[in-house]
Amino acid sequence: MQLHSITLRAMSMRMKSPFTTSFGTQWDKHFILVEVRDKDGRSGWGESVAMKEPFYNEETVGTNWLIMKEFLIPLLWQKPVSHPQEVSSIFSHIRRNNMAKSALEGALWDLYAKQQNLPLYRVLGGERTEIQVGISIGIQDSVSKLLSLIERYVTEGYRRIKIKIKPGWDLDVVAAVRNRFPDISLMVDANSAYTLDDIDHLAELDQFNLMMIEQPLAHDDIIDHAALQKKLRTPICLDESIHSLEDARKAVALGSCRIINIKIGRVGGLAEARKIHDFCLQKGLPVWCGGMLESGIGRAHNIAITTLPGFTLPGDTAASSRYWEKDLIEPEVTVENGLIRVPERPGLGYEPVRERIDEFTMYSETFRP
Ligand SMILES: [Mg+2]
Repeated sequence: MQLHSITLRAMSMRMKSPFTTSFGTQWDKHFILVEVRDKDGRSGWGESVAMKEPFYNEETVGTNWLIMKEFLIPLLWQKPVSHPQEVSSIFSHIRRNNMAKSALEGALWDLYAKQQNLPLYRVLGGERTEIQVGISIGIQDSVSKLLSLIERYVTEGYRRIKIKIKPGWDLDVVAAVRNRFPDISLMVDANSAYTLDDIDHLAELDQFNLMMIEQPLAHDDIIDHAALQKKLRTPICLDESIHSLEDARKAVALGSCRIINIKIGRVGGLAEARKIHDFCLQKGLPVWCGGMLESGIGRAHNIAITTLPGFTLPGDTAASSRYWEKDLIEPEVTVENGLIRVPERPGLGYEPVRERIDEFTMYSETFRP
């Protein structure tokens, strides 16, 4: 691929409104952007979804920077890459650090697609020209505020509503939502806020006809989830527990879930995400693409992977305007009637806007072979 340089940028962007999950509340989005340049001056872009604090998983903006700078980028100089599919094996002896790996691999996929003059989704083998999207709504101060937000997003056409739950903000809240919106596609995400002691409490969710309950139990568990799934009619979807195709294989073998949320960063990149997709398609498990409050660059990668045929459930890839006053790309991601039209331009299909990227860059560092 004739790499010329790799630039890392530490970014800070203020979100339109704070986002609250069972981990806490977030106002500013800190993340790393990766730009990989080839010898002809083309750029490929990637985004690390690691957060500032190690709350979602063990990675952070700081650890990602270090791992990329000291380990992953030097490996790319040592072994010439001819196809981004090779990247995961080049990185394979570095344990975990999946979000760091994914950010670099994602930039290489974008660059590769541009070198081929093809849209990334085609390079990945995607078929859809538009994708269905839902929306994820954080924990609110009041049920009435939640209901009015849902009203707004249902009116905007989002194909399913996901609400975050935690102990003390669950059954009554879901009951109120169902009461007001009896027919919407509704799901809940617990971000590991429960244990098996809550099994009877969680079984109460069965009465609300939810599409799924996402990651109710520990972030690193697949055993207890299997026990819980046996007691629930509602499908369990695993998010935090699945870091690889191997994890997916084991979870499916145990009956720990009936749906998988595929996040590119969590599983170490597009190649691994595609492998998990292929496995789930073969096993008959629907998958969907989760979100990590990405800027437009990460959002564009999510759109590309969602074009694969097994992504049959609406994902979390909302419009840019959901999170940002102005996104880093042109045009911004827009949703019409719950659908995003997949761009046909080469690579990610959206153009990163350098002035805006500069505006939100706290510091940057460029590496050369
Ligand atoms: Mg989740």
